[in-house]
Amino acid sequence: MSSESILITGARVLGQEPSDLLLRDGVIAETGSGLEAAGARVLDADGLIALPGLVDLHTHLREPGREDAETVESGTLAAARGGFTAVHAMANTEPVADTAGVVEQVWRLGSEAGHADVRPVGAVTVGREGRRLAELGAMADSAAGVRVFSDDGTCVSDAVLMRRALEYVKAFDGVIAQHAQEPRLTEGAQMNEGELSGRLGLRGWPSVAEEAIIARDVLLAAHVGSRVHICHLSTRGSVEIVRLAKQRGLPVTAEVTPHHLLLTEDLVATYDPRYKVNPPLRTADDVAAVREGLADGTIDIVATDHAPHPVEDKDCEWDAAAFGMLGLETALSVVQHTMVDTGMLDWAGVADRMSYAPARIGRCDTAAVGGQVHGRPLAAGEPANIVLVDPAASGIVDPRASSSLSRNTPYAGMKLPGEVVATFLRGRVTHSFGDRWRDSAAMTTNSRQRSPKGGTP
Ligand SMILES: [Zn+2]
Repeated sequence: MSSESILITGARVLGQEPSDLLLRDGVIAETGSGLEAAGARVLDADGLIALPGLVDLHTHLREPGREDAETVESGTLAAARGGFTAVHAMANTEPVADTAGVVEQVWRLGSEAGHADVRPVGAVTVGREGRRLAELGAMADSAAGVRVFSDDGTCVSDAVLMRRALEYVKAFDGVIAQHAQEPRLTEGAQMNEGELSGRLGLRGWPSVAEEAIIARDVLLAAHVGSRVHICHLSTRGSVEIVRLAKQRGLPVTAEVTPHHLLLTEDLVATYDPRYKVNPPLRTADDVAAVREGLADGTIDIVATDHAPHPVEDKDCEWDAAAFGMLGLETALSVVQHTMVDTGMLDWAGVADRMSYAPARIGRCDTAAVGGQVHGRPLAAGEPANIVLVDPAASGIVDPRASSSLSRNTPYAGMKLPGEVVATFLRGRVTHSFGDRWRDSAAMTTNSRQRSPKGGTP
């Protein structure tokens, strides 16, 4: 626990009028204007937006097993630089996170690294093989306190297994996060199915393969009276199904990725595997629909689906390349670009979609393992989990400047708005960029760091 006091001056909390925030002993001790604190380090936040620390419900940290792509250390460092204070680590590691032992290992690695809290996701089925249920209860009862379960990367396609999983997690208020992909309809699929896939000669991935599973699972969840969460929803039809389900009061939540908010299938015409992702990039009409869905609350959250891959798995022919894109360091910029700068969402809306709601779905907004509570308002007495963003800054995305061990960002060379200036985890600085610090006594500045976007301070 940090005993150091930090005074943030003039931050626009959720985009509102400037206010000071005094951080002490891991919590927000005081808010208001004209605060003073003898001996505190002072961060001048003039012009910056303060948001609650971001929470990612869908991160691939790759450890254990693929430490050449990412480690808990490097992935959570990338998270901190992107403004995240908590990430949910997906279960498709080697070995798969399908036992109490593996989820506790991942949780412990996160605590040791200290850049962001790591909330392990448990696999739904043993080995993610879709044949029998994993030890969901043991993972829930473990030190990691797992509440989110997913076979992400593959779909729980067996309706009976999905029903049993939904029934099982009810006992401890868990949620099944479904990677909605009907396997038979997507065998060998390489990109969105449509006119373009025909022209490029790539096997198509029909929208209905996603929508059919979502429709089935919202009905199953309602039948069982349990919670289902839809991962990386990507089509207009999926938005419409979730909207209808919510109108009927069915227990469903949904996420969209930053890349599905911005990029379209047209990029696939380059045959550059940086644009190969699961689910695939869709059409401009789908992008419009997911933006509308996020704005009106049909889609609850933005989740990164940060999916690091080493160069040899991406720098090859399209058909052979791995699916996935980096996302942690650029998520907030893409959301500002697509949702805030377009007037579709204000900063309070961003706080909801990227902090409050994902924390609520992952059940870390109230009682949580080791006091690792997230998604709380920026008010006195709350944990000092905060991100400061400069919405007026912009920069060119430079993959070489990333904290990730991988380089597969689809935004390389693209100019994006917004700069994460500082991230605080329980009052401790986990990321700081630029020279806005001053010691209240000595007026010293802290060391400069490179921007994830390669900009100059
Ligand atoms: Zn997935």
